[in-house]
Amino acid sequence: MYPLFILMQILTPDFFQTSAFLPAPHARPDGTVWGFHAHRKINRLAVFTLPPEMIGFYKAHIEFLSRNAVTPDKRRYAVEGEAPRHFIDLDAYPDTTCAGLPRHWPDAVARFGEDSLALHGIVPWHIQLVKFQLTEAFRVQDPDRILKLSADLGHYIADANVPLHTTRNYNGQLTGQQGIHGLWESRLPELLDEEYDFFTGPADYLASPQKTAWKAVFNAHAALDSVLRIEKELTLQYRETEKYSFEERNGQTIKVYSEAFSRRYHQQLAGQVERRMRAAVKMVGDFWYTAWVDAGQPDLNRLTDFRSSGEDRKKEESEPSGWLRRLFQVREESN
Ligand SMILES: [Zn+2]
Repeated sequence: MYPLFILMQILTPDFFQTSAFLPAPHARPDGTVWGFHAHRKINRLAVFTLPPEMIGFYKAHIEFLSRNAVTPDKRRYAVEGEAPRHFIDLDAYPDTTCAGLPRHWPDAVARFGEDSLALHGIVPWHIQLVKFQLTEAFRVQDPDRILKLSADLGHYIADANVPLHTTRNYNGQLTGQQGIHGLWESRLPELLDEEYDFFTGPADYLASPQKTAWKAVFNAHAALDSVLRIEKELTLQYRETEKYSFEERNGQTIKVYSEAFSRRYHQQLAGQVERRMRAAVKMVGDFWYTAWVDAGQPDLNRLTDFRSSGEDRKKEESEPSGWLRRLFQVREESN
């Protein structure tokens, strides 16, 4: 997800002159936390979907899981190969059936090549990879990796549930709706999520994480039409000075979508952001639980007192980009 301050960068003409496919690294100053709100909340709430055998360990580390829900976004600009893991441009493919867009990574690579796939994003495949890695971390009972991979997986799953992460028109730049990305995924939840209902019920075992990951991006993509259409319709009803307002953030005055416009957009979307966030919470819980079951349900109680050092994060980030393909060659999803 894009931090709110990026939304403001996005609203400036400079952004469009300097941006390529994704925001340029200089568009994001370090050290600010705006806009990461939804990611943190999704990882935090997913903990409460877990069964008794898991919840003790996850609750003990809930601050880590919440804080690190945004680590993959921080890596986007520093780690080669990170950026494509956050989205998939489904509309870049003329045929998105299994035949046109292979659901298994090796088949997709054989058909399109890694570079082409990276250009249009790989989030549904990457979710499968991180799920596999998390299962292995459970299997060897490595608490540091379990926590880092759980936090990462929560991030990618949350991204996969965002309609604007499934399209080339990811910020409305092709339809004159620049800034809509931040409106949908940052402004609305930051303003309104205290009013959202996040009750999901307990985590379920996923017979096919691969199918679940694909279903998430297709469900998100199905919501795209209303995301764009409703913003366009509302914009016709608001003057520029009503659509936007100014707020103080970290000592700076920034332009944001006004509260009135944001609330109206939320109403017109009939709770769509709320539904997608809730789906993400449930899906994160389901994936954590499924990885643990697939690893043979190791006893997590003895790992609960673990203190994360965070030392091997750098090592993890410097892994060569070909690791994704290699791991999928080691083990593939069953169907
Ligand atoms: Zn992301």
